[in-house]
Amino acid sequence: MGRIDFDDLSGSLASSTALITDITDRDAYLHDATEERGTPLAIVFAECEDDIVATVDFCRRHNLPLVARGAGTGLSGGCVPIDGGLVISTERMKGLRIDARQRTAVCGPGLITKQLVDAATEYGLTYPPDPASYDESTLGGNVAEGAGGLRCKRFGVTKDYVIGLRAVTADGRILKTGIFCDHQAFGLGDLLIASEGTLAVISEIGVRLIETPAIGTTILAAYGSPEDAAQTVSDITRTGIVPTVLEYIDGDAAACSNEYEKADWLDDRVAAILLIETRRLGEDTEKVKHLCRENRCVYLHVEENAAKADRLWTVRRNVSKAMKALAKYRVSEDVAVPNSRFPVLVAFVAEMNRRSPLRINAYGHAGDGNLHVNFMSMTGSDTELVAMEPEIERLLKRAVELGGTLTGEHGIGLAKRKYLPYEFGVATLDYMKRVKRLFDPANIFNPGKIFPTV
Ligand SMILES: Cc1cc2nc3c(=O)[nH]c(=O)nc-3n(C[C@H](O)[C@H](O)[C@H](O)COP(=O)(O)OP(=O)(O)OC[C@H]3O[C@@H](n4cnc5c(N)ncnc54)[C@H](O)[C@@H]3O)c2cc1C
Repeated sequence: MGRIDFDDLSGSLASSTALITDITDRDAYLHDATEERGTPLAIVFAECEDDIVATVDFCRRHNLPLVARGAGTGLSGGCVPIDGGLVISTERMKGLRIDARQRTAVCGPGLITKQLVDAATEYGLTYPPDPASYDESTLGGNVAEGAGGLRCKRFGVTKDYVIGLRAVTADGRILKTGIFCDHQAFGLGDLLIASEGTLAVISEIGVRLIETPAIGTTILAAYGSPEDAAQTVSDITRTGIVPTVLEYIDGDAAACSNEYEKADWLDDRVAAILLIETRRLGEDTEKVKHLCRENRCVYLHVEENAAKADRLWTVRRNVSKAMKALAKYRVSEDVAVPNSRFPVLVAFVAEMNRRSPLRINAYGHAGDGNLHVNFMSMTGSDTELVAMEPEIERLLKRAVELGGTLTGEHGIGLAKRKYLPYEFGVATLDYMKRVKRLFDPANIFNPGKIFPTV
């Protein structure tokens, strides 16, 4: 490929600081929260939809891959640059208009999730989907990954709140869905949600807001075995109780968290912990406590102090960062299974950890059946690194056998693309690839992500 002349692109961008061709000192943009990395030719910091259009047109003319990027907190390699391609960061597109009477908001893709939540709070409203990364991740990244979160057991995930999208397509036109267009035939917006930047670059997002719910009661239950904790999760679902939050953390994940926090917020002498938020003054709290005891919890505490409860939730949000900080090399999987199969899955993970040279632990949004299984190489030795892939494969196969999925919320990206056939039949995969080819015939958007080939 000849040398690319970027003058033409920089002249059509809104700001003189929007195009970076010297990526020295831009290490943060070469990776996400996985261990994968790539080296782009240039990074565009889009400030408006026209900047995205100009960049897409430039990439199409020069046949260059284009990777959209929010905050880079992804856990499947989705925004990792393609070597020799371009990255378009939408982090500067932080527009926000709240219509409190309609209970809606229109957001730029670079708005950080917590910024939306904080702004909505001023009107007595909230945006419930709250990935643990919500103080860093962007709305664009949340939509592109179909993010879940702690409160999703009760309130639903990102797709349940998106009411419209604007997106720049591979031919440089603007696709409008939901509130941005007149009618909703074909539900094209649904195709874009969780498409991981492979179909279009999202330039504006309409979401629904709800009245801020009352803060509930935080319950911490600790167990002598992971299966007992997981059985409690299964029983809570079976009895029809819908807690606001239902999180599982095994003892080793709690130990990592304590080491990272340099504190002992979570008791790591136990095999597993459930952190639960129920509706305040509801009968649910008593029923949940009863189910915890029935499943032999060894410690049960209702946290009445709001600051301490809040601190516990912050500690939970930081668990992923704790693993990343402590291990030499870490892969975080995010399988999900039906709640009734959750005990089988946690027993399987505990057994893997017993016989593996790796440190394997787990935590996750158990209420949604989601389990983040961490495969950690603590020394970076060959023995540990060689063990990684077969262990991951075993986990993914088992999750699908249990009626579950390869990814509850983190997406396929680079990390899980070769495992797609475990979960999807030939016809389904064929139709997914046809959709990709229809939207992006030249395969400019995030090539190689989700599908190794299209
Ligand atoms: C500590 C930690 C906790 C986490 N907890 C959760 C959790 O509870 N729930 C959960 O679901 N995830 C969680 N994640 C994963 C991650 O935060 C989410 O996937 C999040 O939605 C990614 O947002 P981002 O802005 O960082 O996107 P990025 O990582 O920058 O990108 C993610 C994907 O979105 C695409 N993308 C980004 N912006 C656009 C755009 N404008 N148009 C089109 N495509 C775009 C990218 O190409 C890429 O494929 C966690 C990650 C960390 C590090």
